[in-house]
Amino acid sequence: MADNDAHKLVIIGSGPAGWTAAIYAARANLDPVVYVGVPKQNPSIVLPGGQLMLTTDVENYPGFPDGVSGPEMMQLFQKQAERFGTTVVQEDIESCDFSSRPFTMKTSGGSEIRAHAVIIATGATANWLGLANEQRLAMSGGGVSACAVCDGALPMFRDQPLAVIGGGDTAMEEATYLTKFASKVTVIHRRDELRASQIMQDRYLSQPNAEVLWNKVVIDVLGEDAIKAVELEDTVTGERSQLEVKGLFVAIGHTPATKFIRESGLQFDNSGYLVLEGDTSRTNIEGVFGAGDVADSNYRQAVTAAGMGCRAALDAERWLGAQGVH
Ligand code: NAP
Repeated sequence: MADNDAHKLVIIGSGPAGWTAAIYAARANLDPVVYVGVPKQNPSIVLPGGQLMLTTDVENYPGFPDGVSGPEMMQLFQKQAERFGTTVVQEDIESCDFSSRPFTMKTSGGSEIRAHAVIIATGATANWLGLANEQRLAMSGGGVSACAVCDGALPMFRDQPLAVIGGGDTAMEEATYLTKFASKVTVIHRRDELRASQIMQDRYLSQPNAEVLWNKVVIDVLGEDAIKAVELEDTVTGERSQLEVKGLFVAIGHTPATKFIRESGLQFDNSGYLVLEGDTSRTNIEGVFGAGDVADSNYRQAVTAAGMGCRAALDAERWLGAQGVH
């Protein structure tokens, strides 16, 4: 394949970061090609459009005073990117060779493509328990979620008993947040000691409606259209019990979607997140940029991911310009 067959810019990922990068890049005449990915399930739910495809109502994205559903918002982002000439490909990028330019990538459709610049915006998936009813109710908006900050303030959870699974800082943060709305919050943890920092534990445990169930794992989620209870098993005695809840928040960590680039020479932190250079979207490989949750274990919000997508497109545009690719 000759250099002039290479795309100017390939964007891998189709969440807020990927689409925002595409909108900016398309308007800058970079003819971006977005690889949106193919759906996968179990133990994590991975959908083109990313985490927002599992979010019933987005109420904290500016510009939508009445809220918007996650999937609808991603459709709007895509439409806006396509309006300016973005090409959309319904495939995964399975591997990347960044050792020489233009870069070479293999797609799940079996083809090999080339690009002068690449933006990695593959996001991070929330870890799930992998139970069939957990996934069904998470996908149908039935009260199971992996993001309390996104979903916790919805009317369906107000003044209701809610549960959070996990014992880390995220679980404490989400559980503390939920205490503002819920009648009661129960943290369900598999050990008798929390992993979370002391200050986060204290903040949660000082709330009057906060409880912890120790040494318990959730073995099933009960309810047809909406969650009614969770089935628990004691990790010490093996005893089974049920806890009635109207909402379940799974907070057992996130996994950045970086497996396909693990051998590409890119730099990752200890948790597998893409490392960016200072206050930019540049990775350690010239011409490869990162945006969104794949490079952000901290904020993980649609609006912060979109902002990072914008930065990556601007950085890519400047870099391509300097290489004489217009
Ligand atoms: P984490 O620290 O890895 O904690 C995950 C928790 O989930 C652990 O308590 C773990 O139990 C539990 N867990 C994992 N798999 C499970 C399973 N299959 N079933 C039941 N429980 C399971 O993840 P995180 O809380 O998302 O935090 C990630 C990083 O972000 C950490 O470095 C954290 O400090 C940081 N963070 C900081 C803040 C803040 O400072 N404001 C807020 C959020 C996150 P075990 O303890 O038994 O392993």
